[in-house]
Amino acid sequence: MEQPIAVTRQSFDDWMIPVYAPADFILVRGEGSQVWDQQGKSYIDFAGGIAVNALGHAHPQVLAALVEQAGKLWHLGNGYTNEPVLRLAKQLIDATFADKVFFCNSGAEANEAALKLARKHALDSGNREKNQIVAFNNAFHGRTLFTVSAGGQPKYSQDFAPLPGGITHTPFNDLAAAEQVINDHTCAVIVEPIQGEGGVVPAQPQFLQGLRELCDRHGALLIFDEVQTGVGRTGSLYAYMNYGVVPDVLTTAKALGGGFPIGAMITTDKLAKTLGVGTHGTTYGGNPLAAAVAGEVFSLINTPEVLDGVKQRLEWFIAGLTEINLQYPIFSEIRGAGLLIGCVLNPEYAGRAKQLTQLANEEGVIALIAGPDVVRFTPSLIIPEQDVKEGLARFARAVARICS
Ligand SMILES: *Cc1c(COP(=O)(O)O)cnc(C)c1O
Repeated sequence: MEQPIAVTRQSFDDWMIPVYAPADFILVRGEGSQVWDQQGKSYIDFAGGIAVNALGHAHPQVLAALVEQAGKLWHLGNGYTNEPVLRLAKQLIDATFADKVFFCNSGAEANEAALKLARKHALDSGNREKNQIVAFNNAFHGRTLFTVSAGGQPKYSQDFAPLPGGITHTPFNDLAAAEQVINDHTCAVIVEPIQGEGGVVPAQPQFLQGLRELCDRHGALLIFDEVQTGVGRTGSLYAYMNYGVVPDVLTTAKALGGGFPIGAMITTDKLAKTLGVGTHGTTYGGNPLAAAVAGEVFSLINTPEVLDGVKQRLEWFIAGLTEINLQYPIFSEIRGAGLLIGCVLNPEYAGRAKQLTQLANEEGVIALIAGPDVVRFTPSLIIPEQDVKEGLARFARAVARICS
């Protein structure tokens, strides 16, 4: 057999279009909440592939589902349906408000589908002027041109103008401001129940409740982007269940495949009729391999043990982080829900979240940022207590280095 091509971190700079600046080591293997790099150094994984690997790495049952399906059928295309995708649809329907599902491959695509559904639904109602979308400052909805325009961080969209029109942004958690811009021309309001990329900022319950009422008053669709908050991340299956506010359309991806790319838009029977045959689609959407993996992930996570375990694990994190913060007062606030944890840096350390995660890497722990001032943890929902303790001990050493 031919030798595999030798690769190092330098190969990234040599061969990859430089849209990312990955860490200076290459991970090669993972098991549970531990990963190892090319040199055999171990890391505790508090990132989980950005809220994706919700059951850690190489979960035996997920692996078995993947291998079993891999020996049967990988892909068909949408001229032929398949068993795993139908089973996954039923699982999502049984567990949520939804009656119908559209599958795709990513969060951006799920949001793209949701926004297209909203525009067409309004048009089908006969109102040509009803095409305005309301979204929020600092929101993140993905990187397609439509979703990056709906996102509330102009730095991600401005270089790609002209952008899709008819999108208005207003401050998150400011219901009075939302009331000013939501009217009979609004076809949809899109919101993350907890802004993830925007800094791990939970919506206030009255805010989501108020958006629901405004949407009802003006005949607009309420779209919850649960790409990051969904599939158990907050300790309930979807965050809307905590809030008691039911959207018209919900998007889910990231943890849905546990590391295998898949996304979905779910909605009611009535709204699903908007997207008739030929109006929308994607080659890989509902691919049997992805659906078989997601079906196993979903049924493992949607259990009282795993969902209640999220709350338990949050307590471990809060206890450990509080202890670190007593010794080195670096955080002004720890916020989020369940295992979507944002640690806000004190003004004294503003802008240094990235540096802190780099030091954390050196100490053997993987962490994320959410903007320049927030360190974010989105670990496996089943991370063992021992790994939480060891990871936080390593993280404490990184904090000590930045504080001294
Ligand atoms: C990650 C994310 C997206 C984009 O998902 P992709 O799979 O990267 O396209 C959209 N919305 C939210 C809330 C996200 O966190």
